[in-house]
Amino acid sequence: MATGMFQPYMFEPESDPEFQDDEPTEPQIPRMLQPVTAWCTCENCAVMPTEKENKCCLEIPEIVRRINQVPDTLTCITHHPGFEPVCLNVYSLQNALNVYKADYGPLRLRGIEKRYRHLAHRSFVSWCWGYLSRTIRVDIPSCVVLRVCREFPDAAGSCSGFRPPLD
Ligand SMILES: [Zn+2]
Ligand SMILES: [Zn+2]
Repeated sequence: MATGMFQPYMFEPESDPEFQDDEPTEPQIPRMLQPVTAWCTCENCAVMPTEKENKCCLEIPEIVRRINQVPDTLTCITHHPGFEPVCLNVYSLQNALNVYKADYGPLRLRGIEKRYRHLAHRSFVSWCWGYLSRTIRVDIPSCVVLRVCREFPDAAGSCSGFRPPLD
């Protein structure tokens, strides 16, 4: 009648300190401090001021998927035939603003070029990722940020294209 609290043999967790030591401990050099060629293969990126912006379009699977959908061999998403109509066309962005307002209310950003840039980024994200929340939660590659910036620059007067009102 030995019904006491018999403790079965408890295995010691196997410890293998050597295994942990085998993990390579390469120091991570911030991309901001590396030449752009260390991480960009599309040839349109540049070193950006924040680390999260230092991404190349060709290292983001959602973007590569779009690139692979066209018969031409594209070296960068900014060369994709869908990029201009979706992300840079001012009437697409007018529409993107309406979609934003229907979901979230007024877009609280000052300056038309800033608003265009933000809507261009949102359109890019919804085009490639297929979903979008109020804020952009994915990293937009440097080449796309730069292309959008070229289209909608801040400096007054340096913007030659016609801009209809956004609203
Ligand atoms: Zn790149
Ligand atoms: Zn690119």
